Amino acid sequence: MIHPVSFSASPVKFPVSIHTPEPTHFAGKSKQLDTSPSVINGSHYYTRTAKTFRVFRPDTNAVIGRINACPSEIVNVAVRYARDAFRVWSQTNPHERAAKLKQIAGIIRNNKSELARLDAMNNGKPLAEAEMDVDDSARHFEVFAEQLLQQRDQRVKMPDGSETTIRKTPVGVVGQIIPWNYPLMMAAWKLAPALAAGCTSVIKPAEQTPLSLIRLAELITEANILPKGTINVITGGKETGLALLSNPGIDKYSFTGSTQVGKIVAQMAASNPSGPKDVILELGGKSPSLVFADANLEAAVKGNAFGIFINKGEVCSANSRIYVEDAVYDQFVSRLKAYAENIKLGAYDETDVKMGPLVSKEQQKRVHGFVERAVKDGATLVTGGYIPTEGKLAKGNYYPPTILTNVDPRSEIAQQEVFGPVVIVSRFKSEEDAVRLANNSQYGLAASIWTKDGDRQRRLSQAVEAGVTWVNASQPAYAEIPWGGVKGSGYGKDKLESYQVDRTVYIHNDADTPLFDWFVNPDTVKTV
Ligand code: ADP
Repeated sequence: MIHPVSFSASPVKFPVSIHTPEPTHFAGKSKQLDTSPSVINGSHYYTRTAKTFRVFRPDTNAVIGRINACPSEIVNVAVRYARDAFRVWSQTNPHERAAKLKQIAGIIRNNKSELARLDAMNNGKPLAEAEMDVDDSARHFEVFAEQLLQQRDQRVKMPDGSETTIRKTPVGVVGQIIPWNYPLMMAAWKLAPALAAGCTSVIKPAEQTPLSLIRLAELITEANILPKGTINVITGGKETGLALLSNPGIDKYSFTGSTQVGKIVAQMAASNPSGPKDVILELGGKSPSLVFADANLEAAVKGNAFGIFINKGEVCSANSRIYVEDAVYDQFVSRLKAYAENIKLGAYDETDVKMGPLVSKEQQKRVHGFVERAVKDGATLVTGGYIPTEGKLAKGNYYPPTILTNVDPRSEIAQQEVFGPVVIVSRFKSEEDAVRLANNSQYGLAASIWTKDGDRQRRLSQAVEAGVTWVNASQPAYAEIPWGGVKGSGYGKDKLESYQVDRTVYIHNDADTPLFDWFVNPDTVKTV
């Protein structure tokens, strides 16, 4: 079924395989080379029969590439190679693994401009933001390498005087599915802890933004630092994701994306043909931000603007609900409006641009739909709320920073994740009121609290239901700190221990005496 094809004059640097369910004549390489391949076991894989996805640049909507939707046969191949590689990679010692992870970090840093450009062009974010994502990706490999080196087996004394060792061992082959908002970074957030633990991965980028992860897999393959098949990138969308979820060779899944798809992931992992599988789910959010009158208003305005408008609001932890204490509410709204209206929109490579286009036309329509319905429901549009129809911006999927007030807390815009640069700002009268509003959500990913009062900081960081709470800040995320939500925002975190299983070894300290001498006393057994 899988036929390796060799190209002598091909610019492709890898062995190439082409998948043909019925052996067919290969029609030519130029068409094939327009397509970004899956990278499986250190080879490029193309498939001729499956459907393809076009890859766009969202500032112009020009097509910049194509990917195959890998069918289950290709997913099976990837999982098989990942299993082979697991036998090797899982046996490496932590020092060796940590060194390799640091080498991967080096590769990412050395290729920063290429990787950042791919992400910026393909996702739409400004180059400077994509460069920060690349740095963060490299850091994840460095930090997890260090964490691995710090990890020790745990020895526990038993009440009977013996000792049990609790050993952290790799979970196995992991299936990882990532979204389009941070294409390289989300891959790094998942790959770094998995590889550190000794797992191997079959990872699927989002169909909209596959380019940077494919390139990273190529760079790692070129450097020849991992056993082949340790990282396998499969391209495709929902069907490929479903094929990965139903593959019996996967030991654990990690998914970042919508809550809706997260539910499917959890259900499919539970009914995997080879037994129920554990899942890490990093899902949506509708994160509240509580601004008290004693906060520094200037800092709160800038911090909240960053928290909702960075990465065009396509951030699962975006502070999309801001609640402001009555006394400073009007001032906050007018300052946020002025600040938002000064944010420069444009293409990723334009100077001074701070906000790019949304990832797709579809996403632009979706975001605008939320705003239109909110206004129809009685919300006041303070700024933004339109699709640009003139000039350069009209070509791309731009959406301006948008602020809504007078929003009913039960309405769609207050409850559903928009995943765009759209924020609602409402007032509160008391601390209890603020907590009640903050927790009035199915989600619990992140929250931020703006106050100088230390007691209130402590009280609220307990009372607000969020996996990640920031005080006088919004959005900082570090490799050192586990990331993930509570409530409808998912469960589990992409940390080292999540990719490990505890295995215990009990050693009875007196080999000559049975530990349990329960059923028969040998002294009383008569030999005939
Ligand atoms: P978004 O709404 O942000 O696009 P999704 O949750 O739809 O997020 O997608 C996140 C990732 O999940 C992408 O890689 C996408 O291809 C994948 N995906 C979408 N639907 C499914 C599905 N039913 N099963 C498995 N993966 C899926």
